[in-house]
Formats: sequence, structure tokens, C-alpha cells
Amino acid sequence: MKVLVINCGSSSLKYRLIETDTKTVICKGLCERIGIGGGHFKYEVAGSDKGMDKNVEFPDHNTAVDTLIKALTDPEVGVVSDVSEIAAVGHRIVHGGDRFTEATLITPEVMKIIEECSDLAPLHNPANIQGIKSCQKVMPGTAMVGAFDTAFHQTLPEEAYLYGIPYEYYEKYGIRKFGFHGMSHEYVSKETASLMGRDIKDTKIIVCHLGNGASITAVKGGKSIDTSMGYTPLDGIIMGTRCGSLDPEIVHALAEKTGKSLEDVMHILNFESGVYGLSGYMSSDMRDIRDAYAKGDKAAIRAYDTYIYVIVKYIGSYIAVLGGADAITFTAGIGENSSSLRRHVCERLEGLGVQLDEKANSEGKGGRMISTEASKIKVFAIPTDEEMSIALSTVEVLSNRG
Ligand code: ADP
Repeated sequence: MKVLVINCGSSSLKYRLIETDTKTVICKGLCERIGIGGGHFKYEVAGSDKGMDKNVEFPDHNTAVDTLIKALTDPEVGVVSDVSEIAAVGHRIVHGGDRFTEATLITPEVMKIIEECSDLAPLHNPANIQGIKSCQKVMPGTAMVGAFDTAFHQTLPEEAYLYGIPYEYYEKYGIRKFGFHGMSHEYVSKETASLMGRDIKDTKIIVCHLGNGASITAVKGGKSIDTSMGYTPLDGIIMGTRCGSLDPEIVHALAEKTGKSLEDVMHILNFESGVYGLSGYMSSDMRDIRDAYAKGDKAAIRAYDTYIYVIVKYIGSYIAVLGGADAITFTAGIGENSSSLRRHVCERLEGLGVQLDEKANSEGKGGRMISTEASKIKVFAIPTDEEMSIALSTVEVLSNRG
């Protein structure tokens, strides 16, 4: 069936129309600069040079969805003759709190709960809600499904999701680890098990999702049992501009020493830290850091080495938590593309029995094993596909509905 996947941000809407029976993308694109003027619309039909790339003003998300539907049904470049050919819309929703353990059909009650979760993701959930409402307006008869970044991590045991703060704050305010990138971790762990030719139920896999945002997850028997992001996506490993885990007293110290407000300090930790901050504001893009590193640039070496160190530390702790690991999988922009980063991480894991196959690592393409057969823990590089994951979950929700 045809599923339209929507990933709505506050000023953008990314979309993909997927034929789920064959797991193929029919078309994809995005609407940019919604509500801020200077809007732009991109639409590409897969496997052809048909498409659109034009400036369109999008005063709001409704106009963006309207433009998209017109393109999908356009007599010349369209891919469906009527919008009714689209069986469902799968929406990416960043925060489902602890209310959603899987993708869910959107009903008025579900919308209310997603709205309640906005507190936890004030930048993301309101935009996701807007995306749902706009689609409901333009496609009133079509089933809407929400797929949550947090849902896959709802299997975390209490010992993994609690913080060492008074329990009453968990009870009163729900302060706990949630974890993110769930769709990616779920999809990539399934792909890993399938490449190993094993039933995922019998596997222990560590997924390293390394993009601008990054998180590492310990997956046991197909279920997330710990993950590096926490109450928010600021926690865990060092990222492009985010600091990752740190001593909370640092927030206090930075405010006191710089004279900045709490809000400004949080801005530093979210947008000026990570690889960007560590490199002396050189770049948050790993390609720039890697190139400067190769030239012996001290700031790049400092940022890169710290980044690798933290990844190794998380992997090591998850091997302990899992009681051993069958596989470590690298995914997302950096994890999929940077063979040198994978090598540098794996070299530091040699003591745990990791043996990289350098040819497969640097010359291979697509989802593949990049360790030797003899490696005690197998290593994989697998492209993530969050949109496909959302589309497949949407089909599952529809088929469960009967
Ligand atoms: P997000 O979705 O979180 O914005 P991505 O998964 O797209 O992030 O990853 C973006 C990161 O991937 C950037 O830091 C970019 O430098 C890095 N990246 C992309 N291609 C390469 C490459 N060939 N080598 C190293 N890093 C790469």
C-alpha cells in the first residue's frame, strides 16, 4: 500500500511517499521556510527526472500540505490519480512521553496526549501536531498514524530510566530517561539481525546512530534496554553542537562565571558545544573536523579524539549492560559514511575482541558487515531509514486495526 510519511518541523515539512509492499520510495521532497517567507518546494519522483523545484510562499503548514497534495496528483508529474490511493499518513512525532510504546492510530484522545507531551519537546511536538492537523484538513478520509521517537525506548527497565534524584520528581513531574532516535535504532537493529541471519530475539546489538544528533542504544532481543539520550536529546555522547552528559554543577558554574542567564547557558550547551565548541567553533560538521584532523590541526584533533573516546566509553558500558554483544552497528550521517571514524572506534575495542575488516570498512557500500568473520563482536555499517521505519509501522497499525 502507499503510505505518505510526514516529518514536520516548525518551519519545514519533509515528506516521502512509500510503496510499502515493495519497500520502495515513490517520491520525496520538502517544503521549506513555512511561515517565515521565502518558501521553497522540492518534489522528486524516484527513478525519473520528473519533479518540481520552485519558490512557493507557505504562510502556514496547511498551504504546504496543499501544495504537496497538488504535486502528488498533478497530471504531469503526479504519482497518484487521486489522494484516496494513499492508504495512510505516518507522522513522525518526537515525544510520546511514557504514554506510547508503539506507533498509534491518531484519534482525538491520542491528539490530546500528544499535546500534553509538548511540555517535553516544546520545539518539536507543536510542529508535529500542526502537521497532523494540516493533513487531516486536506485528507479528511485518510487514516493518520503517529510514530514516536521515544516509543522504542519504552522497554527500558526502571533501573535504566531513573535518575539519581528524589523519586518524588519522577512521580510528580515524570523526570526520567526517555531516549530518542527510536525509529532508527529499531530499524537498524532489525537490519543487523537480518544481515547476521539471526532471529533478533536471540541477539544483543549496540546501535550507534551518529549524525548531528547522536545516540547509542543497547538492544537485547529486539528491545531497547538502555540508550544514551535522556530526558531530552541533550544527554549522552558529544554531538555536533550538543554537549552530551556532563556534571550538572557545570550549568551553575557557567552561569556564575560568565554572568549569563540559565537560558543562555542552556543555549551554549545545545548549540555552541559538542564538536563545534570543542574545536574552538571551527565546525559542527564531521567532514570539516576530519579534514582539519588529517592536516594535524590541534583543535580538530582535540574535538575528534574526545568524540571517539566518549563513543568507546558508551559502547564499553553497553557491552557490560548487555552481558556481551553480538554486534555493534554504525548508522546515520557519520556512522554510515565515515570509515575512518569507524576504524578509530573499533581500534580502541580490539581488547574486547573487535577485529575490523579494513577492506569491507573502507571500500564496501550499503548495509554490510565490516568486521572479520573471526571478530568476537561483529561490526556493521548500515544506512538508517527512519521514513521506511515509520511507513512499515503505519502498515502494522492499520493491519492490527483490521
Ligand atoms: P541529522 O539527521 O542529525 O541532522 P545526519 O544523520 O544527516 O544528521 O548526519 C550529519 C553528519 O554526518 C554531519 O556531521 C556530516 O558531516 C556527517 N557526514 C556526512 N557524510 C560524511 C562523510 N562522508 N564523512 C564523515 N562525515 C559525514
